[in-house]
Amino acid sequence: MDTPECGADPVRRVEVRVEGVVQGVGFRPFVHGLAQRLALSGHVGNDTAGVVIEAEGPREAVSGFLKALRSDAPPLAAIHELSVVELVPRGGRGFRILDSDGSGRRRTLISADSATCEACLRELFDPHDRRYRYPFVNCTDCGPRFTIVRDIPYDRPNTTMAGFPLCGACSREYHDPSDRRFHAQPVCCPECGPQLRIVDAHGRPLGEDPVSRAAELLRAGMIVAVKGLGGYHLAADAVSRDAAATLRARKHREDKPFAVMVATLAEARRLCHVDECAERALAGRRRPVVLLDRRDAGGAGAPVSDAVAPGTRRLGIMLPYTPLHHLLMRELATPIVLTSGNVADEPIAFTDDDALARLAGIADAFLVHDRPIHVRADDSVVTTWRGRVIPVRRSRGYAPEPIACPHEFPRPVLACGAELKNTVCLATGRRAMLSAHIGDLKNAETLLSFTESIEHLCRLFDITPEVVAHDLHPDYASTRYALEETGLDAIGVQHHHAHVAACLADNGVDGPAIGVAFDGTGYGTDGTVWGGEFLLATCATFERAGHLATVPMPGGEAAVRQPWRMVAAYLRADSRAGDLAVARRQGDRWEQVRKLIDSRVNTPATSSAGRLFDAVAAVLGVRDTVTYEGQAAIELEQRADPHHPDGYHAGVTDIGGTLVVDSPALLGAVVDDHRRGVDPAVVAARFHNGLADVIRRTCQEIAERTGVRLVALSGGVFANRLLLGRTVDALERHGFTVLTHGRVPCNDGGIGFGQAVVVGARDRAAH
Ligand SMILES: [Zn+2]
Ligand SMILES: [Zn+2]
Repeated sequence: MDTPECGADPVRRVEVRVEGVVQGVGFRPFVHGLAQRLALSGHVGNDTAGVVIEAEGPREAVSGFLKALRSDAPPLAAIHELSVVELVPRGGRGFRILDSDGSGRRRTLISADSATCEACLRELFDPHDRRYRYPFVNCTDCGPRFTIVRDIPYDRPNTTMAGFPLCGACSREYHDPSDRRFHAQPVCCPECGPQLRIVDAHGRPLGEDPVSRAAELLRAGMIVAVKGLGGYHLAADAVSRDAAATLRARKHREDKPFAVMVATLAEARRLCHVDECAERALAGRRRPVVLLDRRDAGGAGAPVSDAVAPGTRRLGIMLPYTPLHHLLMRELATPIVLTSGNVADEPIAFTDDDALARLAGIADAFLVHDRPIHVRADDSVVTTWRGRVIPVRRSRGYAPEPIACPHEFPRPVLACGAELKNTVCLATGRRAMLSAHIGDLKNAETLLSFTESIEHLCRLFDITPEVVAHDLHPDYASTRYALEETGLDAIGVQHHHAHVAACLADNGVDGPAIGVAFDGTGYGTDGTVWGGEFLLATCATFERAGHLATVPMPGGEAAVRQPWRMVAAYLRADSRAGDLAVARRQGDRWEQVRKLIDSRVNTPATSSAGRLFDAVAAVLGVRDTVTYEGQAAIELEQRADPHHPDGYHAGVTDIGGTLVVDSPALLGAVVDDHRRGVDPAVVAARFHNGLADVIRRTCQEIAERTGVRLVALSGGVFANRLLLGRTVDALERHGFTVLTHGRVPCNDGGIGFGQAVVVGARDRAAH
C-alpha cells in the first residue's frame, strides 16, 4: 500500500452506489466529466440497482465529488439513495465508463417524459444542424420516456423506438461517453428516426410540409388532431370563436374549459397574470397546464375567445413541450386550443388506428408520425397558491416518478383509487408510484385503461403486489376489480380517510391530525353519502369527529347534475322557497322534487360540502345544472368578491359525541341576503368566509376534546383557493398547524395514494 502517510492531502478511495432515476439520463457521462475535472481516478458503471462508482484522489477532491453528485446531477436524474463505502486506495490513472452489467433483477427507475431542452431546441432551429426542423430531436436531458417504454430494462429494444435502428451518425453519438446523447434510448435523426405526416380523416396525405400545412389549416379555422407524447390532442385556433365553438360541438364538451398552448412565456403574460412561481411551472421540464388568472379582455395581444373557457376568469396555459409543438407554434404565432383527443369523457386516444377511428368526426386533419405511444398520459394540470405549485392532475411529466414516503411499506400494495379522476398507485419500499390520469371509470374504455395501467406499472417497477386497497363503495368498478380480479388480500379504505392519509403522507407526517375532507361524494361507513367530514385520523385509523349536517339528495346522482335540486333539499321546511327565482326557473319540476324528498324514494342523505356549494350557486343564479364535475362551485368561487371581509354564522352542535355543523344556516343566510337584493359577489364571499370560520370553530372544538392541533385539509373542495386561503388563515391565527397538498392532488386523483398509505400504516401496526 503506497498511500502517502503525510504531505498536503491524504488520498481517499470510495465506492458510491446511487439508486433512483439514474439510467438513461446521462448520469455516467456526468460522473465521468466530474471525476475528470477533479482529477480523480476510478470508474463508473450501471448495475441492476443503479450506478456504481469507484473514485480515488485527494481527500478534499473526493469530498467535493460526493457533494457535486447530488447538487449537480443531470436534470432528469432523481437520486433516492446514495451510499458511500470507504475503500483502501490503490492508485491508478484515469477515469473510465464501464459497460452495463445487465444480469440480475433491475431496480432502476424510468423517468417521466420531459420537455425539449435548450440544447436540442438550438439544433431544431439551426439550419446547419443535421436535425434542423426534425420533430423528434431529443437527448439524455429531454424527450419521451414513460410513454414509450414497454418493458424493463430501459433499453431501446424495450421501447417503441425498437423499430428504428440507429444510423451511423446517431450510433456514434449514442456510444460516445462525451456526447450528450450517450445512451439516450430515443435518439434518432431524419435518416433513421420517425417521420411526420399530415393526412385527412381517411388517411390520405394532405401535403409535403406537414407542419406548414397544419398551421395553414388551423389558421383557416379547421380542427387538427396532433399526435403528442402521451396521446392525441385536438388543436384549434384559440382566437377564433367559430373554431373553438366547432370543437366544442364536435367533441360534445359543453362548458369545460379547454387548455391553450402559447409559443412563449411573453405570450402567456399577454393573456394572463404570471407570477414567478407560475413562470417556473410553465417553463419547467414537466410542462403542465398551469391555471392562471386572465388579464381583462381587450388588453394587449391576441385575446382568446370566450368559447375557450366560458364562465371562468381563469385560463389553463401551457408552453410547447415537444419539438413538434415548437415547430408548429413558431409557424403559427397565435395561441391554440390543445385539448385531449377524445369525445366527452372517453380516455384520450393514443394509438393511430383508434385515433383515426374515434376522432374522424371531430378533426379535419391529422398531424401524425410513426413512433408509437405505448401508454397514454394526459397533460398534467397545476395551479399556484402562495408561491407554491399545487397539482390538480398529476400525469404526463410526473408519472411514473415515485413519491418518497416516510415509512417502509411492509408488503407491496396496489391501490385501485376512486371512481372519478381515477389514478392507481403501487407502493413498495419507501416509494409510491402513481399512474398517469386514468379518468372516470364509469366509462368502459376507461376501465380498460385502468387495468392496462396496473399491468404496465407492475411491469415497469417489477413489483408483484401482495395486498390490494379499494374504496368502500361496493359498486365502484375499481372495488369490483380489487375484489374479483386480483385474488389478493383486499382492504377497504373509506374515501375521506384516504384523502386525509394522502394529505398527511404528502407532508411526510403520520398524525394524529384533524382531517378536514370536503368533497362531492364518498361512501360513508353509516350508509349515508359523506363529503363534509372532520376525521380524527392517523394514517392507519380514523374516527368521525364531525360533519356538515346531512340533507336529502333528491334523485341521487341527478342532484349532482342538477344543483337546483339541492336548494329544494336544503329549503324543504321553508314554505316561501317556491317564490325564489331558482324555484320558478324549474316550473313544475320544483314541486315534483319536493314530493320526491318527502317520499324519500331514491333520496340518500348526504353531508357533502360539494352539494352545499351547488345549492348556493343555484340560489345566486350562477348555475342550475352542470355539465362537468365541480362546475357550479368553480363558478361560484369566481363570482365571490375576494376582498369582502364578513361571513355568515353557522352553529356547531354535539349530537351523541359527534359535532354537526349547521350548514343549512349558511344556505339560509345566503337566501336571506339574496332576497334583500345583496350583490351576489358579496353573498358568495360571505358564504366562503362563513364556511372557513365554522371549519375553524369545529376544529377548535375537536382540539379542546383531544389536544390535537394539527389540521390536514383535503378533498376536491379545497381546490377552491378562496376557501383554502380563508381556512388556512383562520386556523393559523388560532394556533393550528395546517397541512395542505403539494405532491398529490387534493381531489380524487390523490385517493389511490391515500389508500396505499392507509394499508401501509395498517400493515406496520399489525407487525
Ligand atoms: Zn435535449
Ligand atoms: Zn440517425
